[in-house]
Amino acid sequence: MTVSGGGPVGLTFALLLESLLGPRVAITIYDARWADDGSRVVWKSDDHGNIRRQQVVTIQSRHFLKLPQEIQDQLFQPGQFSEMWPTGPDSIDGLGPRNVRIAHIEDSLLEKANEKAAHIRLVPRRFDPASPSGVPPVQHVLAICEGSRSDQEGSLKYFERYFGTADRSIFSLDGQPVRDVVLGLKVKSDLSDAAAVLLTVTQNRFLLNSVHGDGFLNMRLTDAEADELASANLDGTAYPGCIQTKSCVFQRTSEPGVFKCAKHGTVFSPPTQLRSSLWARTLEGLKLFGVKEENLQSITAFRLSMVQRPRFSAELCAATPTGPATFGFLLGDTANAVHFWPGRGLNGGLASAIALARCLKNRWRGLPFRDSDFLRHEAAMAMLQYRHKCRAWRFMVHADDHGVYRAIKDLIGDTAVDAVEPEAVRQADMERLLRRMGQFRERLAQRIEGLPSDEWLRTHLSGLQSRTLRELVESGAWDSYGGGGEEVEVDWLLGEPCQSHPP
Ligand SMILES: Cc1cc2nc3c(=O)[nH]c(=O)nc-3n(C[C@H](O)[C@H](O)[C@H](O)COP(=O)(O)OP(=O)(O)OC[C@H]3O[C@@H](n4cnc5c(N)ncnc54)[C@H](O)[C@@H]3O)c2cc1C
Repeated sequence: MTVSGGGPVGLTFALLLESLLGPRVAITIYDARWADDGSRVVWKSDDHGNIRRQQVVTIQSRHFLKLPQEIQDQLFQPGQFSEMWPTGPDSIDGLGPRNVRIAHIEDSLLEKANEKAAHIRLVPRRFDPASPSGVPPVQHVLAICEGSRSDQEGSLKYFERYFGTADRSIFSLDGQPVRDVVLGLKVKSDLSDAAAVLLTVTQNRFLLNSVHGDGFLNMRLTDAEADELASANLDGTAYPGCIQTKSCVFQRTSEPGVFKCAKHGTVFSPPTQLRSSLWARTLEGLKLFGVKEENLQSITAFRLSMVQRPRFSAELCAATPTGPATFGFLLGDTANAVHFWPGRGLNGGLASAIALARCLKNRWRGLPFRDSDFLRHEAAMAMLQYRHKCRAWRFMVHADDHGVYRAIKDLIGDTAVDAVEPEAVRQADMERLLRRMGQFRERLAQRIEGLPSDEWLRTHLSGLQSRTLRELVESGAWDSYGGGGEEVEVDWLLGEPCQSHPP
């Protein structure tokens, strides 16, 4: 079988299948972000134009406990992960969620895949379904794990007629799809994890996720702020082909306030413009999360929207007298790219890889596959889509007192605060925030130690501008009741496969 895309989901799927089917499986996996390095395949570096992703992701024990032990051991080496978030319904055997850098996940998985050369062939090249080698005649499975852009420029676009048209209307307001633009700030925070969690869950403007303080501070932008995202050439002329549309990464330089795009050599404009409202708001976010300005290391932007997919499994090539049918599967972000605020994208991706690997193991009889073999996998994918997208939607919109939903970015954008704000208004906002934080602290106290006191919070918040306090109030707290409850368990449909190898 072929796996297109060697990100965390593609590699996990290949390794899982290898561990379940052993010598019966031959997997070829493609990724253009890899390079040959003697007898091994490695990740390309910045010098080769591959800016490694730097986000910290939270993975839930419901999913990581289903990975082979050798992968768990490789992922969770001491110092490589932290336990920042509280346990919840996705915590199994009392094990809480774990924070890991995505680059570490990718490194660990590729290292393991290199060790399985007998059954996993790593091809450092883009997979092209249209090329003659795309879907060879004798091939049972094509797993498409190309991330969220596969429907615009990858194999999902090529095979769209088999998987059907995605529907944007469900994640729209007044007929317009809701799209968030999030500024991703790589930072080192001086706050304790407990303080960072409390400050994160009590508003929807900023989100800090880190491993021992090192991580990403994400800032949800209003439409006006998103319009301010711009870069310029070194001579000051505008350069429109950068952060305005792409997820370019700007690294700190030795010059204060100058962040340079590693790809285009351009400079991130907001900090260089005295009147930039976006930059003023960004500095407030750094202050809220205890980040010294010199500890802001790089800046990027993410564009997040969601679609509903009609199906995830399809026959791509019919059987012929000489070869079996080829079945195609959408996994990971290709299947279900969700808003990352509640932290479930990779978790859903891992669950999708676990479901398909178990399904293939259970159904392989040495005969061609047929539609019914994938009944349970398709049901698991539908459950994941429903659960994870419903939750993520609650992190994009809020209902007002009349039950009318509005985009959270617009609630923030509408917070008009006069330059000379009456002290009474500032105090009222401060009290509302403290009340909200007190309520969350009560709920979290059993699961997180060292949550900050009212006195600490009051002193900390008093360093912020009135407009920031107002934005935090208006952005609303995390809807932990609406987004909480039962989680998808792959075991319901596809229990742990027995260890014996099939024919
Ligand atoms: C800031 C941020 C924070 C996040 N936080 C969390 C979190 O806390 N918890 C969580 O669960 N998730 C989180 N996520 C989401 C998570 O990062 C993604 O869900 C996850 O990376 C998806 O993995 P994937 O393998 O499906 O896709 P990707 O990671 O996008 O990998 C796709 C791979 O396919 C390759 N590829 C693409 N096209 C081709 C082709 N034609 N041929 C060959 N290879 C190809 C690419 O090079 C890439 O390596 C976060 C995301 C962001 C941006």
